[in-house]
Amino acid sequence: MKLVIKFDGCSISKSENINKICLYLKQLSITNEIVVVCSAINKTTDDLMKIAKFVETKDKKTINSLISRIIKNHKQIAVRSIDKLTIRNKLIKKLDSDFDDLKEFLAGALIIGEITSRSLDYLISFGEKLSINIISHVLLNLNCMSFPLTGKEVGIITDSNFGESKLLIDTTTINVSRTINSLLDRKLLPIVGGFVGADQYGHITTFGRRGSDYTATIIASCIRADEIWIMGSTDGLMTADPRITHNARVLKEVSYAEASEMNIFGIQQIHPRAFEPLLKDQIPMRIRNALNTQHTGTYISASTRSNINKPVKCINAIKHNGLIDIRGSMIGLQGTAAKIFSTLANAGVNVMMISQNPSESSISIVVQKMDLDKAVNSLEINLLGKLVKKIDVTTDVSIIALIGSGMRGTIGIASKVFNIISKNNVNVVMIVQGSSELNLSFIIRDTDCDSVVKSLHDELNLSIQ
Ligand code: ASP
Ligand code: MG
Repeated sequence: MKLVIKFDGCSISKSENINKICLYLKQLSITNEIVVVCSAINKTTDDLMKIAKFVETKDKKTINSLISRIIKNHKQIAVRSIDKLTIRNKLIKKLDSDFDDLKEFLAGALIIGEITSRSLDYLISFGEKLSINIISHVLLNLNCMSFPLTGKEVGIITDSNFGESKLLIDTTTINVSRTINSLLDRKLLPIVGGFVGADQYGHITTFGRRGSDYTATIIASCIRADEIWIMGSTDGLMTADPRITHNARVLKEVSYAEASEMNIFGIQQIHPRAFEPLLKDQIPMRIRNALNTQHTGTYISASTRSNINKPVKCINAIKHNGLIDIRGSMIGLQGTAAKIFSTLANAGVNVMMISQNPSESSISIVVQKMDLDKAVNSLEINLLGKLVKKIDVTTDVSIIALIGSGMRGTIGIASKVFNIISKNNVNVVMIVQGSSELNLSFIIRDTDCDSVVKSLHDELNLSIQ
């Protein structure tokens, strides 16, 4: 099989895990053609982002201590995971040269005390530069020949929208397939740094946080891989959060559409654009555990056999949100919703759920708790007393989302679900179902969240395959 395998920063944050992973890769590469995509080692990107903040305040001392932490962490991993001295020293030399580049860049940036979006991308791209060299040298220590490449070196080309760059698919496909195929032909295992690309002028760009998932699916699409595996710290996508329901189980298979819905709510989150490159050739994805490779994980493909007895596949919950109920003289008035949502958008508020009843007497929206003050203030300042007569706020509410494509066209799901909730004596504050019928979501109080998730999970028999 032709496989693209992506590792997150957590799974490669300890030397013993890196050794285990590299042994697994070595074995796998005997019978498969594989391409590895790596995130930065856990917390490195966070530390680099912090450094950027301290450049602006010219806080040299804190920057130095963050740099020392990054250096110490990477060198410690290098020393602990490689026993052959020549290979270890070669790696340390390579890491040192990257650290020198990093320090040189920061010395310049500190003089000006400014980080532009372009230089920020250059700065935060260092995490993946370091991790690919570690993985490739650990493989060498195991006599497995690999080749480390950054996103720029593999040929990922993007626009110049630094921090949230968009892929230029045609040039990228030509570049990436040529680079990767020539390495595979030479029996070298490509180790590609995720998250990063370059614009047409060669400037480093990034895809935004968790961008390594996206890099991996881009590469899978460019080389027409048979499968892509996203290796993380869980065995796969789950029927519910195991911290809430102890009998939550790993889902065997879901569709791209279901996985995208679950992505918004689940614990294992994937980059929002990561499914896009897979759709054309319908390349299947597996969500797997980097350290429990016995488990085959969750298989995600274009369509799945839906079990008619199991229209709901999983229950996800997001706690700690705010509900805003907006009342006013909006009946029959055009443009009211547009004004409300543009006010919120201008205030930088992300709206998570919306509902309006056909009488048009109110619009209810749900936002994250951290956005609540901002949302209410902007509505009060801009619309209260004009379009809006009254704003009611309910804090500490949970969004519960039932996901499953089998709900489409199946009669009686909603009645069953709300019966279970009423048996729990829980009040439902708001209900939304999109016309795709893939997701039935409702709002309850945070204090009711765990018991509702538990009883829905039990009564819908989700713990049973
Ligand atoms: N290192 C980047 C981040 O932490 C990209 C990734 O991990 O996917 O967001
Ligand atoms: Mg990550």
